[in-house]
Amino acid sequence: MDRYDVIVIGGGIVGTAVLDRLARYELRALLVEKCDDVASFTTRANSGIVHAGYDCEPGTLKAKFNVLGNPLVWKEAEELDVPHLKCGSIVAAGEDGVSGLEELEKKAKANGVEVRLLSREETLGIEPNVADRISCSLYAPTAGVVSPYQMAIAYADRAILNGAKILLEAPVTAIKRSEGKYTICTPKGDFETSVVINCAGAHGAEINDLAGAEHFETTYRRGDYFVLDNTERKNVNTVIFPLPTAAGKGILVAPTADGNVIYGPTAVDTDDCEDTASTLDSLDALKKSVPLTYKRPAFNKCIRVYSGLRTLIEHDFVIGRSKIKDNFIMTIGICSPGLTSAPAIADEILSLTLESINAEKKKDYIINMPRHLRLKELSDEEIERLARSDSRWGRIVCRCEKVTEAEIIAAINSPLPATTVDAVKRRVRAGMGRCQGGFCGPRVIEILSRELNIPISEVKKGLGASIAPFRVKEVD
Ligand SMILES: Cc1cc2nc3c(=O)[nH]c(=O)nc-3n(C[C@H](O)[C@H](O)[C@H](O)COP(=O)(O)OP(=O)(O)OC[C@H]3O[C@@H](n4cnc5c(N)ncnc54)[C@H](O)[C@@H]3O)c2cc1C
Repeated sequence: MDRYDVIVIGGGIVGTAVLDRLARYELRALLVEKCDDVASFTTRANSGIVHAGYDCEPGTLKAKFNVLGNPLVWKEAEELDVPHLKCGSIVAAGEDGVSGLEELEKKAKANGVEVRLLSREETLGIEPNVADRISCSLYAPTAGVVSPYQMAIAYADRAILNGAKILLEAPVTAIKRSEGKYTICTPKGDFETSVVINCAGAHGAEINDLAGAEHFETTYRRGDYFVLDNTERKNVNTVIFPLPTAAGKGILVAPTADGNVIYGPTAVDTDDCEDTASTLDSLDALKKSVPLTYKRPAFNKCIRVYSGLRTLIEHDFVIGRSKIKDNFIMTIGICSPGLTSAPAIADEILSLTLESINAEKKKDYIINMPRHLRLKELSDEEIERLARSDSRWGRIVCRCEKVTEAEIIAAINSPLPATTVDAVKRRVRAGMGRCQGGFCGPRVIEILSRELNIPISEVKKGLGASIAPFRVKEVD
């Protein structure tokens, strides 16, 4: 049986950030993930907002880790070469919302977050397209957007380069404890470890139960979104929130780090921990809400809808050691602002781990990741130079997002290799554009088949889904 010092369960933004920290120490660290890629569940489908931290209840773990996490996300997105944009945010309100903004301002002060109350004229200076009814706003300059899945993938890549291991398609099915060690059982084998870190998101409470640690009741709340074509990006400068309600931060209008615009999320309570199917009712509610803060809704420019699942345990994050099981550490119930908080949570989990295991910091470890070459960001001279030395730079596979064959091959050969169409899409954006893979999908499948040396029928979309399971026509 393979032995590790630490096993992290779950490869969302929290698990990958934790692994990234562990990999800087002389520790044998493994992350086990049930899906065929990291960032395949909640981390894949959220708003991607780097929250400033003004709205979290002062004194909560959410407030603490949001405020600590915000500057870390900005710093680490640079180190990891992940798309991000510190565009600020506004909470936009009409006359009836002034007292709500003042309440938020008080919370911001208590949390130590910089905000400014703006008049309508000042708001228009930041966001000319707020709705006509908006009379004031609360501006938070430290907010912005980041690509959530690229952040998690980049943490995973950096952790691997620094010596950690990741095992995909390895759902944890049992956790046993004997002689001071844990055995983590998966269909890919059993692994022994001194410390277990539960980062299993929507399944976090189940993992606790498997280990015999504290039992938590979990509830779920789905959020649906519209994604708009990148032609809408010119109309949105900043993240526009309504006043928050008990159900959450409300339906926002925001640019994405990759140049689209999103409207969402809704808040639909559900019992199903895998519920990520948007419904018409919820999308209709979204259509009604967007014009309350934003005056140029363009639902006809929608290129996709998606939905993400919030995992709620009590009213705050659950972060810390189990009081029942030694060396079992939990970071569960990580709903919003979990993306923003992840690097700060990871620092906390590293400290807790080092209380259990003595480990030296490695003398050399990688902080600044090699820059990704992206056709969209290159000058004409650079493109010409690259295409002359490698013809794959001259072959554009995804026309909407301008992604070359060279970039797709780089993704397939990255530290955590992309082995499915969705994994390629999340790394280089092939299939994320207006045609949603209608043109480039078959080419991506061919490239995956060739590079992985597998038949086309074995190339998966992601999460095990087949795309072309059999031939309908044989050609001589
Ligand atoms: C609609 C919505 C909008 C949001 N917007 C924002 C935002 O704008 N800003 C922000 O800061 N936060 C936001 N959040 C919160 C943020 O997305 C989450 O806090 C974060 O993604 C949670 O990450 P995680 O790693 O805990 O969970 P996940 O990303 O779900 O990762 C958990 C992983 O564990 C794996 N797993 C589960 N069971 C097992 C098992 N048995 N064995 C092995 N692996 C297992 C899963 O496959 C999954 O990959 C939003 C959330 C939602 C739903």
